[in-house]
Amino acid sequence: MIPLFVHKSPRILKSFYSPFVWEIPTEEPVIYLTFDDGPIPDVTEWVLEQLDTYLAKATFFCIGDNVRKYPDVFIQMLAKGHSIGNHTFNHLKGWNTDDRTYLNNVKQCNEILPVETTLFRPPYGRIKLSQAYPLLNDYHIVMWDVLTGDFEKYLSAERCLEKTLKYTKAGSIVVMHDSLKAWRNMSYVLPRMLDHFAQLGYRFEALSQLTSPSTNLGDATVSRYLAH
Ligand SMILES: [Zn+2]
Repeated sequence: MIPLFVHKSPRILKSFYSPFVWEIPTEEPVIYLTFDDGPIPDVTEWVLEQLDTYLAKATFFCIGDNVRKYPDVFIQMLAKGHSIGNHTFNHLKGWNTDDRTYLNNVKQCNEILPVETTLFRPPYGRIKLSQAYPLLNDYHIVMWDVLTGDFEKYLSAERCLEKTLKYTKAGSIVVMHDSLKAWRNMSYVLPRMLDHFAQLGYRFEALSQLTSPSTNLGDATVSRYLAH
């Protein structure tokens, strides 16, 4: 069975959606792990323990409704110094949602988060440009360089790991999910990935909230490609 997604975001996609952040240009051995769809009891807490073992920091793109349901789990992410991003309140798919509803849902998520965030990731990576442009005033829209496919039930945990190790490089933004759906693959891949790259001298860092959204990381990424 062929997975219905691409592990590595192709350059053409990155340059077409250049205002978005796809990776962080760096020569430093740094990887940016990101976890979508939490917080979820037990699953998120297990992820936090794994990250602690390697002194790793990550970025959690939270669903607002899960923050409402599991505030205690959310607080643990914060307490451990990870970055938080907005992933809408109800995990809306932008292509199927009118702009007003979509933007209100992002706002609703923002209102329940007890911290400011300048990071937003559209659920399913699907967002209309008419939704993205207003959000770019307040957020970095963070996509990814490597999609682990941990949520994909037809993908074995071994293959998920193999592809993830193959495509991850310095500055990669890697997507995993702290969700029940992704648990089988994610719980296999995460500790092995942390171990693999830690042994190679990599660090795992959270995406910064500090850079102003008007400083366009996406353009930097694209110009790096054009220079080659
Ligand atoms: Zn999601």
